[in-house]
Amino acid sequence: MKNYQITQWCAAFIRQQVQEGDFCIDATMGNGNDTLLLSQLCGKSGKVLAFDIQQEALDATRIYLSEHGIADPERTNIRLICDSHTEIDRYLAEVPGEISAFVFNLGFMPGRDKTIMTTEDTSLPAIKKAINLVKTGGIVSVMAYSGHKEGEAECAAIYEFLKTLPSKKYHVAYVHMINQKKTAPSLFLVTPKVEGRKPL
Ligand code: SAM
Repeated sequence: MKNYQITQWCAAFIRQQVQEGDFCIDATMGNGNDTLLLSQLCGKSGKVLAFDIQQEALDATRIYLSEHGIADPERTNIRLICDSHTEIDRYLAEVPGEISAFVFNLGFMPGRDKTIMTTEDTSLPAIKKAINLVKTGGIVSVMAYSGHKEGEAECAAIYEFLKTLPSKKYHVAYVHMINQKKTAPSLFLVTPKVEGRKPL
């Protein structure tokens, strides 16, 4: 039996959203799964900026991309950046257009040091920036894991913030598995629905 994960639902939303020529941000590169997906979707005329604070993530992503036919990411449509997603706006000059998708897959890098993880202190400000920067009709997706203490606080903080977004300006969805443990991963999806909205 094939075991489908909530991350695949998230990928399905992203697939619907991102088109050839789009500009995208992978805010938490990790092993590079989302970076590869975004790169494939936005094609040669688009671009992906991928962030992680760990050099290990950049190294793992380079290997993963080369296994999938991308030997030199910077010579295709990908820029790997060793920096925090809170610094996203410092790199915007590298993206010559509006951003269609921001992907946050929070927590720690699978199979690596579990003490290096996202926390609400950085992910929440970065999510706010992403919501301000994403184009109208674009998407900010956030996969959050509440199975550990820091993740639980982070997920709760994101939930509390996102539910305050004005309904006239944003669609905000929350996907949670109601037939699994309370700590199963949660997916948040935000889409701005009006032009010219004021920054949060
Ligand atoms: N999207 C990844 C993939 O496709 O493999 C998985 C991401 S993993 C669950 C979370 C990643 O967030 C870790 O690699 C961790 O180093 C990174 N991270 C933690 N704090 C960060 C920050 N402030 N800015 C950017 N990345 C961060």
